Amino acid sequence: MLHQERRPGKMWEMQESLLLQCQMPERGLGNAQTGVLCLNCFRRELVPVRNIPPRGPDPRQEENAERKMCFGEDVAIEEIQSHEEDVDNEKREMNESDIAGLHRFFTKHLELPNHKDLVTLFSQVSCNGFTIEDDELSHMGTAVYPDVALINHSCLPSVIVTYNGTSAEIRAVKNMQPGDEVLISYIDLLYPTDDRNNRLRESYYFTCDCQECKTKSKDKAKLKARKRSDPIEPEVISSMVRYARKTIREFRAFKQIKTPSELLEMCEQSLDEMGAVFDDANVYMLHMMYQAMGVCLYMEDPEGAIRYGEKILKHYCKLYPPYSLNVSSMYLKLGRLYMGMERYSVGVTALKKAMAIMEVAHGKNHSYLTELRKEITKK
Ligand SMILES: [Zn+2]
Repeated sequence: MLHQERRPGKMWEMQESLLLQCQMPERGLGNAQTGVLCLNCFRRELVPVRNIPPRGPDPRQEENAERKMCFGEDVAIEEIQSHEEDVDNEKREMNESDIAGLHRFFTKHLELPNHKDLVTLFSQVSCNGFTIEDDELSHMGTAVYPDVALINHSCLPSVIVTYNGTSAEIRAVKNMQPGDEVLISYIDLLYPTDDRNNRLRESYYFTCDCQECKTKSKDKAKLKARKRSDPIEPEVISSMVRYARKTIREFRAFKQIKTPSELLEMCEQSLDEMGAVFDDANVYMLHMMYQAMGVCLYMEDPEGAIRYGEKILKHYCKLYPPYSLNVSSMYLKLGRLYMGMERYSVGVTALKKAMAIMEVAHGKNHSYLTELRKEITKK
C-alpha cells in the first residue's frame, strides 16, 4: 500500500538481491531474446549476487570456480512461497535436472543442502525470481528479491522494476495516491488476456482479475485481423490463433537446434501464413517479427533487423503502456543500428525516445542513461 504520493519516475524502493543465476556467454541467439533460456542457464550455475560487482567485469566471463554459494546465510528466502504442491511433472523434471546439474558442477566447491530443501529452493526461485535484463532486454540472469516478490501483479501496473548493479529499484509509472496498491507486471503485457492468464497460471499459479483482464479492452487491437472486402470468419481467426500459438512454442524449441537461416525461414513462413488473416499489428505477427529481428541481429544483417524493427516499433508504441521497457529497448536497438549505419539523425531521434522512457523507468542517474547521453553526443 502506498503511503505517499508518487509521480512517474519517483523511486519507491530499492533492494539487494539474494541469489543470481547467470547467463552463459556462448548462448548465442538466446542472448538476443527475453528470458527464454533462463532455466537452461540455471542448470549451469547459481551464485550469490554480492560476489559480482555492479556494472563491473561481465559476470558471464568470470571463472565459475572462483564463486561460492551462500545457502542458509539469508534466511528470508525460507519465507517465500514455493508452490511445490502445484508443480506439474514437466516442471518437476526440470527441477530435478537442475539439481543434478548443481551437484555435477558445484559439489567440489560447497556443501549443498539436502535434496528436499533443494527442490523447495528451486520451486521458490522459479515463481519468485526476477529476470535481470540489460537496457536492450538481453537476459543477464535471475535474482531473488524477497520484499519485491511480495508485490502483486496487475496487467495495468503502477510501478516498474529495473536493476542497478545488484539492486532492484522500483519506480512509479503512473500518478499514484496514498492508499493505492503498488502493482508490478510479472509478465510481458503484449499478449491478449487469455495468453496472459495462461502464462500467469503456468508460472505463478493464479488468474488475474485486473480491470484489463475483466474488460479485455485491448484484445481486439492485439488480435487485429487483416482488412478485406469479404470479412474473415471468426472460425478462421481462431484457427489461425491456434496455429500462431503452436508456431511460437515450436520456434522456442527449435531455437536450440536449428541454424539461424532455418530459423529465419521459419519466421518468414509463419509470417506469410498468418499474414493472410492477421494485420501487421496483430501480436502474433509482432512476436514472429521480433524473433526474425533477433535472428537478423545474430546474423549481422542490420538492414534486415531494421526492417523488422521499424514494423514492430510502430505497433509496440500503441499496444504497450506509456512507460514500457519493451518499447524503450526497441528504440535503443533501432537507434544503435541506425547509428552503426551512419544514419545519425534518425539514430539520435530513436535514442532520445528510448531515453525519455528510461529516465522514468531507470531514473536519470542510472549508468545506462549516462552511457546513452554519450552515444547521442558522439555524433
Ligand atoms: Zn490482468
